[in-house]
Amino acid sequence: SKTQVGFIGLGNMGKPMAKNLLKHGYPVIATDVFPESCKELQELGAQIVDNPAEVADQADRVVTMLPSNPSLSRLLTGYSPNTRIKKVKKGSLLIDSSTIDPAVSKEMAVAAEKMGAVFMDAPVSGGVGAASSGKLTFMVGGVEEEFTAAQELLTCMGANVVYCGAVGTGQAAKICNNMLLAIGMIGTSETMNLGIRLGLDPKLLAKILNMSSGRCWSSDTYNPVPGVMEGVPSGNNYQGGFGTQLMAKDLGLAQTTATNTKTPVPLGSLAHQIYRMMCARGYASKDFSSVFQFLREDEEN
Ligand code: NAD
Repeated sequence: SKTQVGFIGLGNMGKPMAKNLLKHGYPVIATDVFPESCKELQELGAQIVDNPAEVADQADRVVTMLPSNPSLSRLLTGYSPNTRIKKVKKGSLLIDSSTIDPAVSKEMAVAAEKMGAVFMDAPVSGGVGAASSGKLTFMVGGVEEEFTAAQELLTCMGANVVYCGAVGTGQAAKICNNMLLAIGMIGTSETMNLGIRLGLDPKLLAKILNMSSGRCWSSDTYNPVPGVMEGVPSGNNYQGGFGTQLMAKDLGLAQTTATNTKTPVPLGSLAHQIYRMMCARGYASKDFSSVFQFLREDEEN
């Protein structure tokens, strides 16, 4: 029978991911600082413990799905016994699926190695829907010899598991994708808005873009203009989907990595500022395609 898998962080993404491990027959031992998040998983048969240290005491494969850089640092190098793992089973595999700075992933790999564990970064593309249906894409960084072991677990939660290279490269791939997504969504939104003001029907304009060289994921799969497509957040007052705040966070990570590597990312930088302005104006929890609405705020003037 399969041995226990640890899971730390049962939020919007972590909970459905852990459920899929259970579904594939892996006993799960899990924790979250917010006890309410653990209820459903407990009812499904997972063992719930008080803190990450107890997870690491029992499981030699642990998946983390936490908010951001500080939660990861706290977990492996912090001071509080409530959030810190101090020791692991020898040879443990720690797989982090949170989106964080690749430099932090590298620091975590060093900290893990000191404890006798192997750390891999495996951030995901795909939102809560993909997490629930087990269709996430995992971008994995770390020592190649451990990839097969990670893959065995990740395929229970995702449709694509891609090895990217050394530790941190999974995060790098994730950050690059989201930076392009952010830029593309703003470009699509301002283009659609201009076309509408020039008298074009938005559905027709989208159709033309999608048979022309302006086509992109934001225009053909996730169009930001209400009424152009069904089943996307723009058709539902920008609820659900990928929050503007999360996009701003990922763009912040892109900026940090660009600064550290002296890489020019002028449009990534502008996109970051635009999504931050949106957060300050009440768009934080709306889907990021609401940038279309943001661009039209002064429509009456
Ligand atoms: P979330 O805030 O819903 O979940 C994070 C969970 O971690 C919370 O339940 C929190 O209580 C818990 N937590 C925090 N610190 C902890 C600790 N020390 N020990 C135990 N539990 C702790 O966030 P989410 O939406 O699930 O996202 C998680 C990560 O995945 C983020 O890095 C995010 O950027 C990334 N991501 C999210 C999406 C999405 O659509 N939501 C998509 C792709 C990637």
